[in-house]
Amino acid sequence: MNYKIFYLSGLMVFYTVLLPGQVSVRIFAGQDPISAVFNVTEGEYEIDHGAGGKLAVQKDTPVIISKYNGRLAVKLMNDDGFVCDSVLISGNTGRDLFSLRINGNFSARQYYSGDLKCFPDLGRLVLINNCSIDDYIGGVVRTEGGQGKNLEYLKSQAVIARTYMYKYFDKHISDGYNLCDDTHCQAFNGVSSDTLVTQATMQTKGLVILGPDSTLIISAFHSNCGGETSPPENVWLSGQPYLKKVFDKYCISSPNARWRKTLSISDWTASLKNAGLTAVPADLSLLNFSQITRQNDYRIGIFTVPLRQLRSDLNLRSTFFSVKVEGTMVVLSGRGYGHGVGLCQEGAMVMASKGFNFIQIINYYYQGVIVTDIKNAVK
Ligand SMILES: [Zn+2]
Ligand SMILES: [Zn+2]
Repeated sequence: MNYKIFYLSGLMVFYTVLLPGQVSVRIFAGQDPISAVFNVTEGEYEIDHGAGGKLAVQKDTPVIISKYNGRLAVKLMNDDGFVCDSVLISGNTGRDLFSLRINGNFSARQYYSGDLKCFPDLGRLVLINNCSIDDYIGGVVRTEGGQGKNLEYLKSQAVIARTYMYKYFDKHISDGYNLCDDTHCQAFNGVSSDTLVTQATMQTKGLVILGPDSTLIISAFHSNCGGETSPPENVWLSGQPYLKKVFDKYCISSPNARWRKTLSISDWTASLKNAGLTAVPADLSLLNFSQITRQNDYRIGIFTVPLRQLRSDLNLRSTFFSVKVEGTMVVLSGRGYGHGVGLCQEGAMVMASKGFNFIQIINYYYQGVIVTDIKNAVK
């Protein structure tokens, strides 16, 4: 028995006490599933609905879990099913895999290891996967790691994902789980079947990145920095000695190094007006703007607007761009993809292909850090 039932504000919450080496992740957190279909892929499973007695779940016998009047309806194929407040479908062999397909606005099937726990919360069907930390890290590396195929690159990604996981292990603890699978935490689309990802995870088992004060770092990363990483731009990131600007010579020929966007002068000035520009200058060449090195603000005379605001308004790939009026159009010539803070993934891929190991890669993008076992971290 590895769970307890608590009564909170009249609602029953199924709270799992995790085994060591496990993590509890809310899956399909960004979706609003109406129902979920569970299938055993490997191993043996049984259902516990909290009212005594357990039901074995066979391979090829889907279990359908649906929202039902504020509770859950659980139906096994060839069975009448039952209604309950929460359900735990747990693996018995230690190497148990299942697939889960959700129905709702978004329909998808993904593969997971470990256990599945479900309960309703404020009209939503909450799906939680308890799995081993190693499986979770492998899944995050597969989802967040991009196209990199080099082992040392993947090892850098595994250490970054593990650092994030431990730093934010309690992020959703009041919701009844550790982390969600959305980009709010770390994207996780289930277990990885990529053997290189598994090797990267196992060869870095337990390793995390600590800053000069021996606490876990904010392991920010992005796709491509455009040749220059961004100093921490947000207040919550400021003052981190390990996040300084790096002039990155490795990523400048990579796929996301450059971008270009053309828009009408009226669209461009509309977003400047949104940001507080009162009058568009008669001389349109005053709209031109050049970023040789990263700036924080776009300027016209005394008017300034944070580049990150323009990036967000216009859905631009980065804040590292220059502006040039050409006829009736404005051309934005940009560099990089993402916020630019911390590790540059495409630069890290090139470093790995040139023979740098994962520790050298991590030390290139985060300054004065050490890669060490989680047991050396100061809370
Ligand atoms: Zn989250
Ligand atoms: Zn870069």
